[in-house]
Amino acid sequence: MRSLALLSLLAGLATTPVIAEDFNLIQEVETETLTPGAAAGAVLGEHRFVLTFEPSSIREAGLIRSKFEKEGIFAEILDDLADQIALPVDVPVTFTDCGYPNAFWSPSDQAITFCYEMVVLYNDTYQQLEGPEGGLFRWADQDAVLTGTTLFILLHELGHGLTALYDLPITGREEDAVDQFAALTLIGADEEGDTFEERPSRLALLGAYFFKQLSRAPEDITRAIFSNEHSLGQQRYYDVMCLVMGSDMEAYGPILTPGMVMVFETIEKNPADFDQAKIMEWLEKTDDLNILPAARALRCPNEFARYDASWDYIIDTFMTVQKD
Ligand SMILES: [Zn+2]
Repeated sequence: MRSLALLSLLAGLATTPVIAEDFNLIQEVETETLTPGAAAGAVLGEHRFVLTFEPSSIREAGLIRSKFEKEGIFAEILDDLADQIALPVDVPVTFTDCGYPNAFWSPSDQAITFCYEMVVLYNDTYQQLEGPEGGLFRWADQDAVLTGTTLFILLHELGHGLTALYDLPITGREEDAVDQFAALTLIGADEEGDTFEERPSRLALLGAYFFKQLSRAPEDITRAIFSNEHSLGQQRYYDVMCLVMGSDMEAYGPILTPGMVMVFETIEKNPADFDQAKIMEWLEKTDDLNILPAARALRCPNEFARYDASWDYIIDTFMTVQKD
């Protein structure tokens, strides 16, 4: 199983925008009954995520490990989540040396493993954030990039874990659903009055950036990539960004869609000068200034509201004890 995981990862890093998963060649298929609360534990918050940062023999990872251990946000987010749900068992979340770069949910162990090799891999490639994202991530120093990217990947894997543990009803690609779960968990951790630098939701943008890093040029997108269970890196980049944007247009609009914000501010000052056609024309003209194209950005509040409500419902209905 280990060697298969490695192969899938190598294929993933070389050719496809994936976070590789642990998988069995022959998977047991069970009929899912989707009974609300049937797979939930008896008591809310009783079982926990057990977070461990094992020692590493990789020098660079040793430094990262001590930083992560001091960084409270990993434990904080996992504890918040565990308080809200009734886990049926304790779920180990272990950072460790694997001998290969990966992060995965293991169905047989019911545990998440995060390999230090994976953290080292993107830590090495993230020394600077280039392109328009340089501006987008001006607030993100190397520490924030490392923490945010790791946290997003961890929550993505956790999403797979919860989907398996609770037999969650998912329609569409599970990979997209658990990207939503990761982004929405970080967004949900925002608190009223948080400054931008205090908002956990901003870390989801680093998850988005991770997907951009894994994107391939259109001419390099092979049949294997198109048929892969993951959406393209480029799509995941915009999808995650859209959820963050939709959660708070006022906070994220100026960063993700400065062109669109400029147009709307101008319209606000001179509403009589604009009809529908002119608005569309101006949005098009200023679209190059937007990291998230305006046509998508305008849909994001609805997308966020829909997915956020759906995940709330899933958590309430399937991850807690249901009374008769
Ligand atoms: Zn995945």
